[in-house]
Amino acid sequence: MGMAEKLVSVVCPWCSVGCRFYIVSVNGYPKKIEFDYENDIRNHGKLCPKGVAAFQYLRHPDRLKRPLKRVGERGEGKFVEISWEEAIKEIAKKLSEIREKYGPEALAFLGSERCSLEENYVLQKLARALGTNNLEYVCRLCQSTAVVGKGKVLGHPGLTNPFEDILKAKVIVIWGYNPAASNPVFFGQYVEKAIIDNNATLIVVDPRKTETAKYADIHLQPYPGTDLAVALAMLNVIITKELYDKDFVAERAEGLEKLATIVERYTPEWAEEVSGVPAELIRKAAITFATAGTAALLTNEGVNQHTNGTKTVMALTEMMVLCGYFGKEGVMSGAIPGAHNGMGAGLAGVEPDALPGKFPLHAEQHRKRIEEAWGFKIPEKPGITYVEMVDAILEGKIRALYVMGTNPAKSLPNLKKVEKALKNIEFLVVQDIFLTETAKYADIVLPAAAWFEKDATAISFERRIQRSFKAAEAPGEAKPDWEIIVMLAKELGLGKYFNYSSADDILREINRIVPPLAGATPERLKKNLKGCMIHCPDENTETPRLFVKGFLTPNGKA
Ligand code: SF4
Repeated sequence: MGMAEKLVSVVCPWCSVGCRFYIVSVNGYPKKIEFDYENDIRNHGKLCPKGVAAFQYLRHPDRLKRPLKRVGERGEGKFVEISWEEAIKEIAKKLSEIREKYGPEALAFLGSERCSLEENYVLQKLARALGTNNLEYVCRLCQSTAVVGKGKVLGHPGLTNPFEDILKAKVIVIWGYNPAASNPVFFGQYVEKAIIDNNATLIVVDPRKTETAKYADIHLQPYPGTDLAVALAMLNVIITKELYDKDFVAERAEGLEKLATIVERYTPEWAEEVSGVPAELIRKAAITFATAGTAALLTNEGVNQHTNGTKTVMALTEMMVLCGYFGKEGVMSGAIPGAHNGMGAGLAGVEPDALPGKFPLHAEQHRKRIEEAWGFKIPEKPGITYVEMVDAILEGKIRALYVMGTNPAKSLPNLKKVEKALKNIEFLVVQDIFLTETAKYADIVLPAAAWFEKDATAISFERRIQRSFKAAEAPGEAKPDWEIIVMLAKELGLGKYFNYSSADDILREINRIVPPLAGATPERLKKNLKGCMIHCPDENTETPRLFVKGFLTPNGKA
């Protein structure tokens, strides 16, 4: 290795597993990757093809390098380059004018699961300093049913156990999720290993013959959208055959009689009619699951993204509760997000009705505590949701939209309507690394640094918070998203609230504001590349397993 070369440890941004590796950086230029076999990290040195090719896009010729101002029609993609000074001045002027004329609720801000914890944090702080809670990010659309469903039953939606616990599970249920394709390192290092080394039984529920289903001992193939029928029938079998953990249910749950009454009519034969899955196969899956002793149940968008998604998530979570599969080793329950920092964006506070740490906006003690730390008043009225924002733009209620690292013109439902909204909005700013479909509609486009071009913190689906370090220089004049927000805040006269000169400064403020992240300090995350599992209330503590003593519902019971 030459003198100018250095090894920089990074987190892969292409899915939520949180694999680490090194980028060999030569004078700020990313030369190649190296596997990390030495540090005790989750991927044990392994990467999937997405990780191996992870940085290739950095030097793509289409990367944005300088701020742009629109000169053509919206959506036409015609821009001229302008200076940073001109761009920031124009954005500040226009946001101030709109705020003055229509009120702060005419502004809306979109954060991103692709950006860091720190960047999402400063974005939501800016929105709130300007007087609005109109804050959103797209992960909330994908995961909303899972968050609500698991939240209702358990009081917390996160993955319950560390990855290695699945190695001790005797049965693994993978429902509406294809980790062999979408999270290959997690599948290979944990699920496949559990099957081979621990003889775990794999039950897959998916209408498709997926890569994951090829490993299944039992494969249930319901018609799309009928997962709830299968879940209810499995509950029916577990309750009527009294296969549930009576001690656990008596101590940790309530409402068994009500649940038994509800599922009484949902027999496997009924479910066969609805879902097409043979009744005997449903019975076999339910008995195998309930009698295993230890079990993991992992779900994803195949469950979430149906109109009955919340109910299906609740039924599956109740199945785990009935069998006593919480709060111990060898079990796991979780809904797996796709993007690498969905949990980070939520914990940063990019939500219309939640503060950093996901404390409800209406929880006065937390609002006051954060107001005191920030030095300004947080608006009390909740903001509007992503889909409502599109309507509000079309109705002229939202006049300015600030988009950081996300692409609603590509990712939202009903794209024709979204395009119409973006065409008609009074003022649109997009900061991103490419001229995305959304950026083509923007008045001002700001060039952002990519993930490997900055120090950045992310939270994987294991609830593990990790630091990724700057391994490459950004092209042209591109800047990290947090730096852009700080520049804008200063131009808006809010500089005293945004006194940061590094991502570390921002993370330290998050440590002070968000108690579950208090111990995830920059120093700890630099020293311990493996990071720590939230909640980490101090620098020596982490929470590998949720619900060891009780659930996080108001009375501690499921
Ligand atoms: S499994 Fe996910 S995090 Fe790991 S290398 Fe592949 S894309 Fe990256």
